[in-house]
Amino acid sequence: MKCAVCGGQATKELENGTTLCSRCNPKDVKMQNCPVCGKSMSIRKGKFGSFWGCIMYPNCMGTRKI
Ligand SMILES: [Zn+2]
Ligand SMILES: [Zn+2]
Repeated sequence: MKCAVCGGQATKELENGTTLCSRCNPKDVKMQNCPVCGKSMSIRKGKFGSFWGCIMYPNCMGTRKI
């Protein structure tokens, strides 16, 4: 698990799937915009770990690495 803010070792996971280390706060998580459609993104879980996925999924397949 990677911290969504600093990329360090995450120690906790929030209800929305955001993972954080002990030093970072949920309010520090930068909201991402979809590289495809420009809408907001939310953290999703996949086979290979967490990633940012477009809120318009499955209509939009835009993703970003955390
Ligand atoms: Zn962190
Ligand atoms: Zn999108």
